[in-house]
Order: sequence, then C-alpha cells, then structure tokens
Amino acid sequence: MKERIEKIREELGNNNLDGIIINHPSNRFYLSGFTGSAGTVMVTAKKAMLITDFRYTEQAQNQAPHLEIVEHDLKKMDTLNQLIAGEGLNKIGFEADFETFATVEQQLKGKIDNVEWVPTHNLVEKFRIYKSAAELSFLQEAIDLADQALEHICGFIKPGMAEREVALELEFFLRKKGAKGSSFDIIVASGPRGSLPHGIASDKIIKEGELVVIDMGARLNGYASDVTRTFAIGSAGEKERKVYETVLEAQLAAIEDIKPGLSGQEADKLSRDVISAEGYGDNFGHGLGHGIGIDVHESPRLSPVSENNLEPGMVFTVEPGIYLPGWGGVRIEDIVVMEENGVRSLTRAPKEFKII
Ligand code: ZN
Ligand code: ZN
Repeated sequence: MKERIEKIREELGNNNLDGIIINHPSNRFYLSGFTGSAGTVMVTAKKAMLITDFRYTEQAQNQAPHLEIVEHDLKKMDTLNQLIAGEGLNKIGFEADFETFATVEQQLKGKIDNVEWVPTHNLVEKFRIYKSAAELSFLQEAIDLADQALEHICGFIKPGMAEREVALELEFFLRKKGAKGSSFDIIVASGPRGSLPHGIASDKIIKEGELVVIDMGARLNGYASDVTRTFAIGSAGEKERKVYETVLEAQLAAIEDIKPGLSGQEADKLSRDVISAEGYGDNFGHGLGHGIGIDVHESPRLSPVSENNLEPGMVFTVEPGIYLPGWGGVRIEDIVVMEENGVRSLTRAPKEFKII
C-alpha cells in the first residue's frame, strides 16, 4: 500500500499539486485497504491521511496502518479545512469524474479562501489497471469461488424451476463460502430471454430443451469476479449446438491470439470475425470484454470503440456472445491476465457444450 501512496505523490509533482483528496470508494480502498463506507484519503508531499468518523476509527487503524487516521468532527469538511490550512496547501486535486458538482461548488470551493481546487481524471485508476501479485491472488480466489458456484448450480437446476430460484441458490452458495455476495445482479436468462445480454433472473420457469445463460461473480477480499456459462437443459437441438460452438470458437480464438501491444479494438475483432464468418455478426451487440478488479467493470475495454492498449499485468474478461431475438442467446465469459507472451485464463470452469 505504501508504494501506491508513493505513486500518487509522484503524480502530485507531475500535476503541480500540493495534495489530493480521494473519495471514490474503490480508489479509497485501493490506497488504504479500508473497507468502511465513509472516509477521505488525503495525500500530500509529506502526509498520507485517512479522515473518517468515530464509527470507523478503530477499523481504519487496523486496516490502514500505513496512513495517519484522523477522526473528523460532525462536519468532515471543517476537519478537512483545518488540515488543509495547517499544512499550508494551496492547490488541491479532486476526482472530477466522481465528485458531484454540488460537492465541488458548495463543500470544496465554498469553504476556504486561497485554495485552488483542481479537477483530476484517472489519477488513481491508471495504476489500478495493472494488477500486483497480491491483487492477482485475491482475484484468483474470487474467480475460483465463482467456478465452484457454477459447478454446484449444474447439479441444482431442474426443468420447472424459476430463474430466480437458481439465482438465489447461487447467491446463497457464494455467501456460505465466505463471499460478501454476488459482485452484481445475477443473470439467469433461459430460452428466449437469453437474447437479453443483461437478463437479470426473473420469475420465468426454465424448460426442458432451453439454453440457460448464467452470468455471475463473487465479491471476495474486496475483489470481484465475473463468469458466464451457457448450459442446455435436458436436451439440445442442432441450432443450439451450432450457435454454442461458434461462440466457443470465437472465444478461444481471442484467448489464443491476444498478445501484448494489441489494441482493445484489435482484440475485439479476433472474436467478432469468427462470429461474422458464421453470419451472426449483427447478433454480437456488445464489446468483447472489460477490465476487472476492485470494480466489476474497469479499464481496459475490449470493444470496437476501445481506446486502450493491452499490456502485461492487465486483467480483463473475454466474453463473446450471440443473441437471437425470439430464440435466445449464448455467451461464454472467462477472466484472463495478460502476461509477456499472451493471456492466461484465470477462470477454470469447463466450457465444452454441456447438457444438464
Ligand atoms: Zn459477466
Ligand atoms: Zn463481464
């Protein structure tokens, strides 16, 4: 955590700032390890503080021993102002993509004279895009737990069950095994609902002969996982197999050929070309993948409009899909880490066509 603070200090120098305040919960956690729901990290050339209230003081001291913990008064801004005045800070950065206009106008700008508040962008996020060894092991645990949940659910799903029952069982399994819960609303989309890429589990009854898209993840140790598998229930027709094999081929092609230096657009095209060659080019309506870590969706992006380059240390999903309105859909999603020679899959759940 200390190195992370040092990197932020370097950024202060590069941006000609005396300090910065960090309130975005994921960035605050990244710099502090503090999991409480309220607090501000302030980094200056000399100091690194976590300002929080009395409910969290002890927790903050335990979780963020590398930071000076300051317990604020009833009004956090008053304490912050005292600290800023005491340190003689003039130019202070804030997270422009996170703070609301109201906060900046009323709380920051309104309070202290002689302080210039400077909007910053991506200042912490640009470090979060590269995962450390410790982060990779946290991610692997969250991924392994999601894999186990998928294995468990294969023995649980029966025709006649509602999608919602399946989602509840997954959530229960994750929590029982120590996760804080699912890292997002679990998607269980059966039959025609499978054509909705974000078909959150509904009351629909799962029927024999349908495909079911299950997209879920675990939140564990502050990190999120995200995996999708598509299963056939009881039996499967030719079309179900054909569409599935096309998506699998598209996913394997990308995993095989994504190399460091490729752009997010080029990576996306690896899968999209396979799907287009089978005539389903118009039915893959989302990007190939997204970065994942503390947040389920973070940089880099893999899509036709991505502006990222893919480099070693990045962790992202590879999740092509085909969605046919009125029929259903297939998506297969793994998490991979970029290494020197290409990507390595962290997801280990099997992905050959499976009838359950
Ligand atoms: Zn997903
Ligand atoms: Zn995803």
